[in-house]
Amino acid sequence: MPNSTPHQYVLLRNGRVLDPSSNLDVTGDVLVANGVIEHAGAPLGDVRRDGDLVEIDCAGQVVSPGFVDVHCHLREPGREDVETIATGARAAAAGGFTAVCAMPNTDPVTDNQAAVGFIIRQAMRAAAARVYPIGAISVGQKGEALAEFGEMIGAGAVAVSDDGKPVASAQLMRTALEYARTFEIPVADHCEEPTLAKGGAMNEGVVSARLGLKGIPSEAEEIMVIRDILLARRTGGHVHLCHMSTRTSVELIRWGKDRNIRVTAEVCPHHLSLTEESVEGYNTNAKMNPPLRTAEDVEYLKQAVKDGTIDLVATDHAPHHYDEKEREFSDAPNGIIGLETALAVMVTNLVEPGIISYATLVDRMSCSPARIFHLPGGTLRRGSVADITVFDPAARWSVDPATFLSKGRNTPYAGMSLTGRATCTIVGGRIVYRLTS
Ligand SMILES: [Zn+2]
Ligand SMILES: [Zn+2]
Repeated sequence: MPNSTPHQYVLLRNGRVLDPSSNLDVTGDVLVANGVIEHAGAPLGDVRRDGDLVEIDCAGQVVSPGFVDVHCHLREPGREDVETIATGARAAAAGGFTAVCAMPNTDPVTDNQAAVGFIIRQAMRAAAARVYPIGAISVGQKGEALAEFGEMIGAGAVAVSDDGKPVASAQLMRTALEYARTFEIPVADHCEEPTLAKGGAMNEGVVSARLGLKGIPSEAEEIMVIRDILLARRTGGHVHLCHMSTRTSVELIRWGKDRNIRVTAEVCPHHLSLTEESVEGYNTNAKMNPPLRTAEDVEYLKQAVKDGTIDLVATDHAPHHYDEKEREFSDAPNGIIGLETALAVMVTNLVEPGIISYATLVDRMSCSPARIFHLPGGTLRRGSVADITVFDPAARWSVDPATFLSKGRNTPYAGMSLTGRATCTIVGGRIVYRLTS
């Protein structure tokens, strides 16, 4: 119900109110008044308000600050057949995300003020999850001239990235970090050394050898990780490393953080739950960049989410047309959709096995991304914007891509049984999604 009229008051009753940003974990109530959190915590008892009040029973559910995805691809403008800002924003809301950041590798590239403004207008019209544009680092993502950061930020961009393409030039990355520093925004990098990665279709290792596919060595990522960390140290800029996939990347990030260098990092649910083995049978829904790695890498990444070396979880939601994923493996495009499975993949693979708590899950999917990208939300503190996710931690469901609100169907989780599901998503006090079962 994306266009439901906002209620003046929303009262969420009897949920597990969980907000790591304010050390809150109690069974109680959350009251939203005119789009703002009025109360989060102990049960309120009798609540009477003049005006329109909707009450939702959240018994057995977790009520947390809304999830924030700092990395997704919404394909508009250019590929509205694959996803639009509206369908992406609705898919986000269905996954429990109250805000998403849209990467600029659209057609045309989001590299100027007008393009940023277009995304913001489309997002307003969709009236689902908030959509924050990320501007390109370089004009046309060509890796040559820096885009006009100031103008894009003025129009509403929250970060810069050439994601989809690596920033091959160390000099350009250095300048981007210096320039971004004056605006206090992160530079989000797709870490990939292009000469090593060239022509690769999956992780380089025993599986790629067996399948006869050209591999991408983990060093293609790690060389860029350490380059970016060293450039952040040199410039004082904030580098945010996208979709980390290897053990050594984790070790390098730890090295940087130990020295107080301004480096933050994200990991995607698929890199925490799947290995290169998923490619067996030339499954193009397991083809992504960076590629799925080894079980050892997955284990390290999980521990890095637990200990905070990896700051946050992002989806890298990347819808593709069915026909394109039907191509031969080496020619198929990279990427999978992720907005509607992220929570369940995290609960099933990290929380249920006891690796992280629900508080850590909420921190890595909400508080931390909001804080690192300087976005509203990520908290249930009184007076904050009422961006809230209600989820059923025990809901067991079978992934059926045909039911997704995203236009994308390219997911390796199809048919899998997962646990954990968003049941109600609230953006600025407005109910933008409710699970109907
Ligand atoms: Zn990327
Ligand atoms: Zn991406």
